Amino acid sequence: MHPDSHDVAIIGAGAAGMMCAAIAGQRGRRVLLIEHSAHVGEKIRISGGGRCNFTNTQADLKHYIGCHPGFARQTLAGYTPRDFIALVRKHRIGFHEKHKGQLFCDDSSQRIIDMLRAECLQGRVQWMQPAKVDDVRRQGKGFALATSHGNVHAERLVVATGGLPVPKIGATDYGLRLAQRFGLHVVPPQPALVPLTFAPEPWKPYAELAGVARAVRVRCGKQSFDEDLLFTHRGLSGPAILQISSFWNSGDGLTIDLAPGHDIGIQLRQAKAQSRQSLLNVLAQTLPRRLAQTWIQNLGLAGERRIAELPDAKLAALGAALAGWTVQPTGTEGWRKAEVMRGGVDTAELHPVTLEARQVPGLHFIGEVIDVTGWLGGYNFQWAWASGYAAGMAV
Ligand SMILES: Cc1cc2nc3c(=O)[nH]c(=O)nc-3n(C[C@H](O)[C@H](O)[C@H](O)COP(=O)(O)OP(=O)(O)OC[C@H]3O[C@@H](n4cnc5c(N)ncnc54)[C@H](O)[C@@H]3O)c2cc1C
Repeated sequence: MHPDSHDVAIIGAGAAGMMCAAIAGQRGRRVLLIEHSAHVGEKIRISGGGRCNFTNTQADLKHYIGCHPGFARQTLAGYTPRDFIALVRKHRIGFHEKHKGQLFCDDSSQRIIDMLRAECLQGRVQWMQPAKVDDVRRQGKGFALATSHGNVHAERLVVATGGLPVPKIGATDYGLRLAQRFGLHVVPPQPALVPLTFAPEPWKPYAELAGVARAVRVRCGKQSFDEDLLFTHRGLSGPAILQISSFWNSGDGLTIDLAPGHDIGIQLRQAKAQSRQSLLNVLAQTLPRRLAQTWIQNLGLAGERRIAELPDAKLAALGAALAGWTVQPTGTEGWRKAEVMRGGVDTAELHPVTLEARQVPGLHFIGEVIDVTGWLGGYNFQWAWASGYAAGMAV
């Protein structure tokens, strides 16, 4: 056998690629893992504020979007959060639950990268890094790869090049272009889990709220999230907005309840009967003061006036404005700030158990390069592990 001949070549040593390499290698397959950057798992390293929100105990199909929402069912069922937690425990990595089933490393994301490297080592995975793949062609039943380190032959090729977010740490559209070159349909990629922006002029009254955070309910069409919102200079961010951004399309409006669980109109009218305080002081008992001030100004009310002097209708209008703030974002902060990519290789092109292209036997796609996008909260890594595992078992 020629030394540059492998059972499996995997392009991209990120979350899904390393998982796939380790599983295939431990099954006895001769695996070559090709990575173009000098580092591996860069997104793992920067994820979860450096502590990697590596899975979510509640992960199931409802936490994923894509053009064919049922596609991920089998893949997710084949490798669950429990399976990944067992691996993390085997490597004695401390972790904790932060919020709604989200599991984070106690110390550093590097522990997850080291764990995947150790699993690859156990599978005798061969690394080619940093290396560029210049060309990929069909050769017999397999693939011929022209790389910056010479020509390579592999029976099977797994594309694990990830999504487009954060180009400065190695994200490329290579996997999408390769899919298209082999005739696969690609759902147009868009930034997701991303802050939303507004036209500067209409945003002016809110720009000075930059830094104010608040638990809200945000709605876009039928989808809503109860999470924290953060005002920024150019628009809105925070988990509530990142979550809803995956459902937002250009032209859509958002409705935001800035005080979910409170009926501010009723609270203000009750306060009117009992309090000698100003409207602003009363409202600031429920809302951040700067936020209260902005909404009072929006309605042309004088915040310093005693609440007792204000008509009920005005107080009711203020309550309604806070409960149903409607806004129309004009864009997103783009790939630089997105956490994940929406769209990608159309799942209609892939087999759900093996993630192999139906029309190109031996060619597999895993991870974020596929049109399966998780919510915020560890779901995207769970998809990377599950799809990496599925392909690792199949190749
Ligand atoms: C700031 C940030 C924070 C995040 N936090 C979380 C979190 O806490 N929890 C969560 O679940 N998800 C999180 N995500 C999303 C998660 O990181 C990704 O969904 C996941 O890494 C996707 O795995 P992947 O293997 O498909 O792609 P990646 O992990 O991105 O790996 C792709 C690999 O392919 C390499 N590559 C690209 N092009 C080529 C090429 N042409 N040749 C060779 N190699 C190539 C890249 O360098 C990279 O190493 C976060 C993302 C970002 C940007």
